[in-house]
Amino acid sequence: MKHYPVIIIGGGASGLFLSSLLKDSLLLEKNHECGKKLLVTGGGACNITHNEAPRDLVCHYYEKKNFVSTALYSLSPEAIQNYFLSLNVETYIREDGKVFPNTNDAHTVRDALLNGGKILTDYTVNSVRKDKDIFVVNEQYSSNNLVIATGGTVFPQTGSTGDGYRFLKEFGHTIVPPRNALCEIKLNEDTSFLEGISVDNATLKIGKNTSTGPLLFTRKGLSGPVALNLSRFIDGETELVLKLCDITAEEIKSQNGKLKCSNALHQLTGVPQRLIEGVIPARDKNVASLTKEDIRVIIERLTAWHLKGNTHGQSKLAMVTCGGVSTKEVDSKSMESKLCPGLFIVGECLDVDGETGGYNLSFAFASSYLVYKKLKTDLS
Ligand SMILES: Cc1cc2nc3c(=O)[nH]c(=O)nc-3n(C[C@H](O)[C@H](O)[C@H](O)COP(=O)(O)OP(=O)(O)OC[C@H]3O[C@@H](n4cnc5c(N)ncnc54)[C@H](O)[C@@H]3O)c2cc1C
Repeated sequence: MKHYPVIIIGGGASGLFLSSLLKDSLLLEKNHECGKKLLVTGGGACNITHNEAPRDLVCHYYEKKNFVSTALYSLSPEAIQNYFLSLNVETYIREDGKVFPNTNDAHTVRDALLNGGKILTDYTVNSVRKDKDIFVVNEQYSSNNLVIATGGTVFPQTGSTGDGYRFLKEFGHTIVPPRNALCEIKLNEDTSFLEGISVDNATLKIGKNTSTGPLLFTRKGLSGPVALNLSRFIDGETELVLKLCDITAEEIKSQNGKLKCSNALHQLTGVPQRLIEGVIPARDKNVASLTKEDIRVIIERLTAWHLKGNTHGQSKLAMVTCGGVSTKEVDSKSMESKLCPGLFIVGECLDVDGETGGYNLSFAFASSYLVYKKLKTDLS
């Protein structure tokens, strides 16, 4: 049996990042090439991180702000950029804060991470066990330290099929049931006639959770950052409240009475006229002939449109998994399992998901960096 100080299972963003730092490691990847998911990130351009100070960055991980803090303070967005620069990958910051390689090609990022430890592709790990202090993988390789970097369950066409959960359950870990996140929200109501319309500053509310920003109507529902970021809160058929703008009855009544009301509402709110015409009643009336009831319904539709949505059938399209290995059982300072010394869990396999904008790759890299820091000390 061949022995390594560290074995990493999974050659995605997190596994590759760690392998690039830890030369004395073996990485096992089931696909023919590493980083298949990394290659599709950011529309193929790879949004590697977000240009924010760590104190702001941590706010994009929902209820996991505390858990991700040590990792994201240890490897800040600036440090991520510097690390890639040390690998000859220059990056640039887009106006919205997203960071990309200058090439706008994810291959540049993936390829830069390949020159570290030993990598074996076309190698599926089926079994993992611990014999005293030694981990045994597929009864073929052994190691003192084992890193599970197998990702989550969404976008399984790139290799992330939840295998890590199976291994970790055997070590006693709890798996928070995985759900689709960062995906389109399908609406029960037919809004296909609104396809392609976007709103710059919509507010979506799901339960107690709210997100404000750009929203896009798709053929079957809602997309754009606002919908993507809240999709993790969808549980079966879920109630949503959509606010397209702020508007009062007085403001509507103060408009030129001769104007077609959809025209007046567009001028008043900036909401695209086609969207207004699609959602309000009395769209052909002029402002002067709107009844009290017309105005009430218009305000309700534009400021608190009640809808129902779901994320069924989105697993092949979702960008991240919400759920995974319970973070209560993992040391946030090193990503080491609290149940099994020498076992580490990184990236999307953990019950951590971030918003859209480079936050998931940031965590994949930063969680691996903590493992590197711990093992570098232990191994030296
Ligand atoms: C379409 C899309 C676009 C995205 N865009 C962005 C973006 O621009 N910015 C951003 O921050 N995030 C983005 N994400 C999210 C981001 O890609 C993931 O969160 C990140 O890749 C997770 O990295 P990971 O290493 O934890 O898992 P993965 O990248 O999923 O890697 C896991 C690896 O483990 C391997 N594996 C699994 N089981 C086994 C086994 N039994 N044996 C051997 N190997 C195994 C898999 O083949 C896979 O290569 C996007 C996701 C998608 C789907």
